[in-house]
Amino acid sequence: MSKPFQTTVVGSMPKPAWLMEQLPLNAKGKQVHGKGADWHFSGDVLGAALDDATRLTVHDQVHAGIDILSDGEQRRTSYLTYVTSQLEGFDYETLAEKWTRNGRRLAEVGRCVGPIRRTKSILRRDAEFMLAQSDRPVKMTLPGPMTVVDSTADEYYGDEEKMAMAAAEVLNEEARELDALGVAVIQFDEPVFSRYPDKVKDWGIAALDRCLEGIKNAQTAAHICYSYPMPGVPRPIVDSYPVILEALESSKIDQLALEFEASKLDPQLLSLCPSKTVMFGCIDNGIDEIETAEHVAAKLLAAAKYLPADQIQAAPDCGLVPLSMDIARAKLQAMVEGARLARERLA
Ligand code: ZN
Repeated sequence: MSKPFQTTVVGSMPKPAWLMEQLPLNAKGKQVHGKGADWHFSGDVLGAALDDATRLTVHDQVHAGIDILSDGEQRRTSYLTYVTSQLEGFDYETLAEKWTRNGRRLAEVGRCVGPIRRTKSILRRDAEFMLAQSDRPVKMTLPGPMTVVDSTADEYYGDEEKMAMAAAEVLNEEARELDALGVAVIQFDEPVFSRYPDKVKDWGIAALDRCLEGIKNAQTAAHICYSYPMPGVPRPIVDSYPVILEALESSKIDQLALEFEASKLDPQLLSLCPSKTVMFGCIDNGIDEIETAEHVAAKLLAAAKYLPADQIQAAPDCGLVPLSMDIARAKLQAMVEGARLARERLA
């Protein structure tokens, strides 16, 4: 059994200004998946810089007192294309235009032009590097199958569910390799689950469960964004969590990373997923104001009314990449201190 209110991050962390061109998250104009900003280096120097940026985010997380570490996705220009562009079956040379996120965003996306296959390890080296950095448990993230389908243009399968199951099969191969390496948590990011609650029930859960087959030691997790903050775009909150959480309770996934801070959702929703460990989002990644430890503690203790405290982890709502490094550091420190206070106050 784990200690109550363990602390973790969802995935991405801000990148140092020396590593990558700093662009606003949703710079005006059409989005090109995975091509938001440019690295300041190339070749071997870039490789060394990515290693160093990863060491830096590990340092920041350990210094803040985070229990379960992520590589902060420092090596990725996109959490998704970093993985999909390394799979056979996708073409990122000639992009297609597609309305994604249920019509919210027009993007240029990669095309699926043949059977999705995994011909090499994708995250093996990244995971080995992370495992060598500290003794703390490591989380690695992969895009979930529904999000892969939504974020690419299908010119091969002709059926979303079929394509999702094909993606799930290769994501599962990757996940089993991470499991064998000793990664503690394998997280599938499904930001689009909240956009398509009906598809979640129809085939989203089945595709997610397909990703988990044969995983022996790692905990498995799904991150469901509530509404990713994008400057200049209103957050089109669709109250889909109730439907999604009920469906996820029936899945084989161990953990759910959910947003409760910016969304101001009622923690009573946790009673819909009594068997899951929940990364309870208590830090907003869309504002610079630092949450206080008292605020975090109160949120966690409120959540503990609906789920045992050892099934609750303190986490930010979502990846912290939109923030500056200093603000992200301060927020993580407040979160860790808040979790400590909450532990102290547990009756
Ligand atoms: Zn998110």
